[in-house]
Amino acid sequence: MHELSIAQNIIDIISEQCLKSGHTRIEAVNIRIGRASGIMSDALFFAFDAIKAESIAEGAVLHIEEVPVSGRCNECKSDFIVQEVYILFCPHCGGGSFRMVSGKEMDIIDMEVS
Ligand SMILES: [Zn+2]
Repeated sequence: MHELSIAQNIIDIISEQCLKSGHTRIEAVNIRIGRASGIMSDALFFAFDAIKAESIAEGAVLHIEEVPVSGRCNECKSDFIVQEVYILFCPHCGGGSFRMVSGKEMDIIDMEVS
């Protein structure tokens, strides 16, 4: 259900932008989702396809780019990427003081209209 409201949000935003730019049809939309955002790509694809039919995004194809979780260590200053959806410690020095740099985003990058 979480993904359903996100899909609706995406369609609302791109529909508004599409109409504002004077176009009537959305061909594709590219979005970026962090692996730690809690959003399941599969569920989002499903939700998007299920609700796009009644909108000007009817023929739109959703493209999802998954962004890995990455951080920057406050101790050794190195940047790193982890395979998990969370960071427990810096993989370089084992330090527990770090900042999450990416992984929580949900951005609409761009779209193709006609
Ligand atoms: Zn470190």
